[in-house]
Amino acid sequence: MGIKYVSYTKVVLIIFLFIINPGFGHDPNKKLPANKIFEKFNLPTVDESTPIGFYAKGCLSGGVKLKDTGPTWQIMRPSRNRNWGHPTVISYAKDLSKSANQIGWKGLYIGDIAAPRGGPMPYGHQSHQTGLDIDIWLTAPKSLKLTKKERDTIKAISVRKKNLKEVNNNWTLAHAKILRAAASDNRVDRIFINAPAKIWMCENMEGSKKWLQKIRPLWGHHSHFHVRLKCPKDSIECIKQIPTVSQISKSSTGCDESLYWWVSKALEPQDPKKKKPALRKKKGARDYIMDDLPKMCLDVIHSK
Ligand SMILES: [Zn+2]
Repeated sequence: MGIKYVSYTKVVLIIFLFIINPGFGHDPNKKLPANKIFEKFNLPTVDESTPIGFYAKGCLSGGVKLKDTGPTWQIMRPSRNRNWGHPTVISYAKDLSKSANQIGWKGLYIGDIAAPRGGPMPYGHQSHQTGLDIDIWLTAPKSLKLTKKERDTIKAISVRKKNLKEVNNNWTLAHAKILRAAASDNRVDRIFINAPAKIWMCENMEGSKKWLQKIRPLWGHHSHFHVRLKCPKDSIECIKQIPTVSQISKSSTGCDESLYWWVSKALEPQDPKKKKPALRKKKGARDYIMDDLPKMCLDVIHSK
């Protein structure tokens, strides 16, 4: 009888602990990849909204949802449930979609922001972990009344030629104006887009080009651009990205040889005689276990 009683209490206690402290079976001894834990959460924590850690190594407490459909935007790939972020990114998305509407598009198709509790993702991005990164499609919306199914399957258009050197006929002046509005916003730290798009803007936009410094060339990013916001002032757990954009670029706009490198030297075939140094596989977001993330992320996965 006695033994039975003890085990019964134990079972109740375990169930109780699980209810107040879900964590989805997080056991520090089991070294489970962190993305396997974060992907199980459909909802954010209910406390104050804080980005924790670095864009590519962190998590998000108190995530806020960007509504699937608004007057000037729609969320794409809604079944991924990645339209959660810090309140700054939510208001930024709404403001930028309004600007896009004034520029002449119906609004914006919004790609991934972050999972409800941020953290490393099972597929896709390395970053988007702290609720401060947001992808914006380069497809001009034909309709903002797409169904969920349509938004899960619609194809994004590319604005870059296959030669990786120039923009194609899908690129328009409106794209450049939307990117100018996106980069001129003080909340933005940097924006990633393919090099040909930035080159086009360097060569064709009139007026002050200082806003171009925040726009950084990167591989991919030819059917969407990626906006990274600065750490909000009161978010002490948020880690800033260094070097800053002004430290990286060799000019006030970044429209210099460091940009043209992407469409010249970077595309030249590699000399096969040159021995490549043995590549040690770098640890990426999908390899992280909870120990790799900031300690506060443990609270994020263990709170209701
Ligand atoms: Zn992105």
